Amino acid sequence: MESNSNKADLKVVIVGGVAGGASCAARLRRLAENAEIIMVERGPYVSYANCGLPYHVGGVIPRESSLLVADERTFRSLFEIDVRTLCEAVSISPQEKTVELRNVATGELTIESYDKLVLSPGATPIRPPMPGIDLPGVFKVRTVPDVKEIKDWLEGHDPFSSGMHTYTGYQTVVPARRAVVVGGGFIGLEMAENLKHLGLEVTLIQRGPHVMGPMDPEMARYVERHMERHGVHLVLDDDVTGFQRTDGGPLEVLTKSGQKFPADIAVLGIGVRPENWLAKDAGLAIGDRGGIRVDEQMRTSDPDIFAVGDAIEVKDYITGEWTHIPLAGPANRQGRIAADVIAGRDSSFRGTQGTSIIGLFGAAAAWTGVNEKTLLRLGDSDYEKIYLYPNSHAGYYPGAKYLAMKIIFRKSDGRLLGVQAVGQDGVDKRIDAFAMAIQLGSTIYDLEEAELCYAPQFGSAKSPVNFAGMVAADVLRGDMPLSHWNSDVPRYLLDVRHPQELAVEHAPGAVNIPLDELRERLDELPRDREIDVICRSGQRAYYATRILLQNGFKARILAGGMMSRENLIADTNQAR
Ligand SMILES: Cc1cc2nc3c(=O)[nH]c(=O)nc-3n(C[C@H](O)[C@H](O)[C@H](O)COP(=O)(O)OP(=O)(O)OC[C@H]3O[C@@H](n4cnc5c(N)ncnc54)[C@H](O)[C@@H]3O)c2cc1C
Repeated sequence: MESNSNKADLKVVIVGGVAGGASCAARLRRLAENAEIIMVERGPYVSYANCGLPYHVGGVIPRESSLLVADERTFRSLFEIDVRTLCEAVSISPQEKTVELRNVATGELTIESYDKLVLSPGATPIRPPMPGIDLPGVFKVRTVPDVKEIKDWLEGHDPFSSGMHTYTGYQTVVPARRAVVVGGGFIGLEMAENLKHLGLEVTLIQRGPHVMGPMDPEMARYVERHMERHGVHLVLDDDVTGFQRTDGGPLEVLTKSGQKFPADIAVLGIGVRPENWLAKDAGLAIGDRGGIRVDEQMRTSDPDIFAVGDAIEVKDYITGEWTHIPLAGPANRQGRIAADVIAGRDSSFRGTQGTSIIGLFGAAAAWTGVNEKTLLRLGDSDYEKIYLYPNSHAGYYPGAKYLAMKIIFRKSDGRLLGVQAVGQDGVDKRIDAFAMAIQLGSTIYDLEEAELCYAPQFGSAKSPVNFAGMVAADVLRGDMPLSHWNSDVPRYLLDVRHPQELAVEHAPGAVNIPLDELRERLDELPRDREIDVICRSGQRAYYATRILLQNGFKARILAGGMMSRENLIADTNQAR
């Protein structure tokens, strides 16, 4: 089919002209020069950078045009793709192999035939039918026009330009504008940061017990504290129930606990759901999470219709479960795979591991693979976890920042299952390395051997990735027996830090013998009990544990030491 196919031989209609749709269209042209490709997009733009939208609101990306990665003209001139913006696909007839299109401006309906149809309609922001949700000042963030509305609103409600400030006789008093962000996922947190950049007072309300759902609670705590340090007021475990505006007063955001938050603007970031109505009406199979069901080659239940991106369900690479992970990377890859398959190539999607990153006030949180919450939900106990706090680069080179990392791996065979990391430097490159390792089915023993680049300003001779492998391998080889803060087993706690450090933070009931005195004071320790050893991050506890084990004691290291304790206690309230 590739180079010798005639235009009439293959006609492909693509619905949705952004991440999945546009990458499919461009790839298909590169493989099938003679195919007729039509790409329809309901909105005014194709191939725009949704991921940059919050930063356009915050002024970090000042020009709207920077968000438009490629326009209609580029698609036409470079790829000879018939791009139709403001054109919505409204129904599909799989029997006739036609799709009905509506001109959004005129309402005119036309019918287009296809040999292959690709659906990439994305996901819709969830907008529950709660009182006041349609009031002026309540916004969603999905498209370029959405953020234009937000920017216009903020400019229109600028206290200087709107004359809302009062003159006291001495100075102009400018009331701080207040924003309420609903939802603590990616979009909510990014919007909170950007509204803060604009000088607004920002309150973020999150339904669940912690922000960033894909992270485990104790790792999300780092994100929460960082947000709070930068002035974002977090309200956790509360549900927004509605919005109201009293006469002449500000918008108020109401919550289940009975609180009222006055707001000059409210932004919804409570998640997305697959835009599935077109597929559903056409009788295509839809999964339990509302996504279009596809096989590994992106084919729907109709072999001539493909679907990609946020609209589909995919298999979790680790658990094998169906899941919905709306991310740009998978959408782009799936678009490319659909094009390959349509052009007769044998490509397939490996499933998703949810690799993600978010930047917040100069720090980053990122993860890949499965989290512990999921393993617990699945009743999977064949895993172990460690917490590490390595430097982002050699400690002797200026500017090193510590990384907080959680590594989850199989107890039985050492397979790496998931990693979460938070820090101000070097988070992305570590998570990318772990992500590749997971995709290649690597074990923690492979991480020990990974050969990674090093110079002092970039990393350490023993990179955090190697370090993770070495510590995890020590655990599995029995060199470093492990216990956890939230284990129920009564413990004898030995703290090997210096007494000065205990003044800052200490674990109640812990016996203190500093590491450098341990060899001389072994007779103070019990030989008939497990001894759980702590220090600040785990390194000195490891040295101590090795001394104790080699002297016949039953010793274990308490994972993550004092640095993990605070978060785990906040999380489980059962650390002992
Ligand atoms: C504010 C924001 C920030 C984000 N940040 C990140 C990030 O940092 N990293 C990351 O990985 N992901 C991020 N994402 C998610 C990422 O943008 C999506 O995963 C990706 O764009 C999905 O691609 P898609 O092609 O499935 O859908 P989309 O890119 O949403 O494109 C779907 C398009 O289809 C059009 N459409 C829908 N129905 C029809 C129809 N019936 N007819 C015609 N056209 C139709 C829509 O108008 C839309 O333009 C972000 C998303 C948003 C909204």
